[in-house]
Amino acid sequence: MSFQELGLSEAIVRAVTEQGYTTPTPIQKQAIPAVLAGGDLLAGAQTGTGKTAGFTLPILQRLSALPVKSGARRAIRALILAPTRELAAQVEESVRTYGKYLKLTSAVIFGGVGIHPQIKILQQGVDILVATPGRLLDHMQQGTVDLSRIEILVLDEADRMLDMGFIRDIRKVLQALPPKRQNLLFSATFADEIRALADNLLNSPATIEV
Ligand code: AMP
Repeated sequence: MSFQELGLSEAIVRAVTEQGYTTPTPIQKQAIPAVLAGGDLLAGAQTGTGKTAGFTLPILQRLSALPVKSGARRAIRALILAPTRELAAQVEESVRTYGKYLKLTSAVIFGGVGIHPQIKILQQGVDILVATPGRLLDHMQQGTVDLSRIEILVLDEADRMLDMGFIRDIRKVLQALPPKRQNLLFSATFADEIRALADNLLNSPATIEV
């Protein structure tokens, strides 16, 4: 089974091949077709399994296959929430690497650094935003981020986000999103709190466990 056979476009396969990946990992084999199909996804996956490419590749594909009307203002179409600045930065780096042959833009925002450079970047227009929940909420409260056109939401390492006390921030973010969207939840563990969040967030999700 190759990346091509999973339904990814030539531009994405080329970027992945340049990274030296020849074969999709088990989570990629399951997650990529599920995300391309457009439905919600609940995935149990540890770091190191290739989960990042498992969601970034099909998101890039979906956004590039359904471009917004020309002339329409660029709006954030995919939002990826991650627990830490390190993970958020890594995920955005993956988006850039895998999307290098596509005409999509991305940005990462996290706390602990100045907010003004982030405001400038958001004003320039971004298709894919990776964020930690607290700083995203700061931008929402300042009116410097528009989440009204989100088509795809990812909660990456959802269990760690809950462990770090982000549940209230996440709920506030969810309230600001358009109701009709695709939701992906990745977690290494499934305690009751995660199950409750998943039940609340996901509509008839495909489930994968690796
Ligand atoms: P992740 O679980 O997303 O943190 O990925 C773990 C590591 O595996 C990263 O360094 C990726 O660059 C690498 N990786 C992801 N997918 C593949 C693949 N299909 N083949 C080889 N390496 C991969």
